[in-house]
Amino acid sequence: MRTKIVAGNWKMNNDLAETQTLIEQLIQQGDFSNKRVMIAPTAVHLSAAKSALSASKIEVVAQNMHQAEAGAYTGEISGKMLKGIDVNTVILGHSERRAYFGETDAILEEKVAAALKQDIEVIFCFGEELEDRKAGNHFEVVASQIKNALFALDAAALKHIILAYEPVWAIGTGETASPEQAQEMHAFIRNLLAEKYGEATAQATSILYGGSVKPNNAQEIFSKADVDGGLIGGASLKAEDFFAIVKSL
Ligand code: PEP
Repeated sequence: MRTKIVAGNWKMNNDLAETQTLIEQLIQQGDFSNKRVMIAPTAVHLSAAKSALSASKIEVVAQNMHQAEAGAYTGEISGKMLKGIDVNTVILGHSERRAYFGETDAILEEKVAAALKQDIEVIFCFGEELEDRKAGNHFEVVASQIKNALFALDAAALKHIILAYEPVWAIGTGETASPEQAQEMHAFIRNLLAEKYGEATAQATSILYGGSVKPNNAQEIFSKADVDGGLIGGASLKAEDFFAIVKSL
């Protein structure tokens, strides 16, 4: 059975006091079972979040990392640094990183390899732009993003990758892919994995949906056979909303 996951991407939100308050509120929401729940605060607050959640099952993950092990890369954070504070999962390939920070498939391929080398699990994000969907190219775009960044990996390495399909037109827009659109794409992705890695690997890989998931639409999206959870942006900033989404899974 695939692991069910809800991950909250806090992006560049929350100062330290707000981070601590939100974490306290999350802890108060209570326990959960049979799924992984993660939060991704800004890198500056990863250590504080780890301490605050030391007795909780909620996992702390990073929003990004650099592909080099160390060196003259001002302002960047390495996988080794994340590992050093016991952060064992990183989000890579988010559409905001691709759009605003020039992250290409080639860079992402390097970042994925660098994370896996440090034994850091990857939540790998990808998804088409609105023009791609309108032009009917969305399957092609998604397939090339996945193939270019991931298909050099072998099946053993792929076990450390969580996929997150995030159509760019649905991120932070209030526009959600319909549950049918999400299922159609997730089934396509699983089939792509099956062709490359075999059915067992494809069936074991968690594929999350991201893009304006809210408490009022989460259950329907999560009910789809190939949707194994969600990557949540805006709604992860409110403990009650985030946990309502966690409970929908
Ligand atoms: C995201 O940024 O990964 C995301 C899914 O954002 P939102 O939920 O706000 O659309």
